Amino acid sequence: MARIINGTELSEVIRAEIAAEAAAFHAETGVRPGLATVLVGDDPASQVYVRMKGKAAKEAGFYSREIVLPKTAQEEELLGVVAGLNADPDIHGILVQLPLPAHIDSAKVIRLIDPAKDVDGFHPNNVGRLAIGDPDVLAPCTPAGIVEMLLRSGYDPAGRRVVVVGRSAIVGRPVALLLLRSGKGGNATVTVAHSRTRDLGAVTREAEILIAAVGSPELIKRDMVTPGVVVIDVGVNRVEDPSRPRGYRLVGDVAFDEVAEVAEAITPVPGGVGPMTITMLLRNTLEAARRIVATSGMAG
Ligand code: NDP
Repeated sequence: MARIINGTELSEVIRAEIAAEAAAFHAETGVRPGLATVLVGDDPASQVYVRMKGKAAKEAGFYSREIVLPKTAQEEELLGVVAGLNADPDIHGILVQLPLPAHIDSAKVIRLIDPAKDVDGFHPNNVGRLAIGDPDVLAPCTPAGIVEMLLRSGYDPAGRRVVVVGRSAIVGRPVALLLLRSGKGGNATVTVAHSRTRDLGAVTREAEILIAAVGSPELIKRDMVTPGVVVIDVGVNRVEDPSRPRGYRLVGDVAFDEVAEVAEAITPVPGGVGPMTITMLLRNTLEAARRIVATSGMAG
């Protein structure tokens, strides 16, 4: 039976480290790292995510501001909010919760965020820096969380054959870029598979580390992995389950029970990658605060 890589426990350890660093930073500079979340509309899942992010920020001793606009808010209004946060010295990290309502151009909103405050790592400047292997970029949170989990569990990806299933801009592609970088957490040999990949099983069986970011419940079966593989399951999928009070349960992109029988290690869903994503958001916000304070100190 595989070892379980517990993202909740790892997150607790890392969040305590971040809280201690934030307290030391505050003692030294008088500044608390500040995170602003912006939610447009009332999508229940987005409301939950934003609440969790604000709560985690406060627990780490950060300043947290949660801004909510109605779903009828116009693009101009949201752009105005972002511009205000860009100029606000109390805010070092800006997170606009996606997806935005269809009448708002998400790309335009993301482009307006000051790249120095782009703690989601979605601004084209930061995406470009990641693509060229810049070691200092604010990296997207889910990919950064995946790499951190591997490192802290003793599975340094350096030199290993990693297969990523999924090529989205928020998970598959950026995690592949992080793993390719030449620094810590990088130096892997990376293959990226997607919906047009022929014979997916033949590709995934090559993996020493398999990262599934597909959004397809239990797509990865036991016969698609090689025994001894380390599995990071990013997928969060609802499947109907009348035995649960809510009528559904959450499963990953990996058929957990059968793959866990042969894997060396595996992340659960929930309790795996999810908590690490928020933890990396805190880390990025602290890092952004440090850099902004250092730069403004030099300017003054
Ligand atoms: P997207 O839908 O944006 O991307 C899915 C990717 O999987 C695409 O590249 C798609 O290929 C590929 N794909 C789809 N079907 C197959 C298939 N049958 N075989 C091989 N590849 C396939 O999803 P995201 O990347 O945004 O999210 C992936 C999963 O991760 C979701 O379940 C999401 O909920 C979860 N997630 C979890 C997070 C966390 O913090 N735990 C954070 C973000 C996401 P193609 O490009 O060809 O269409």
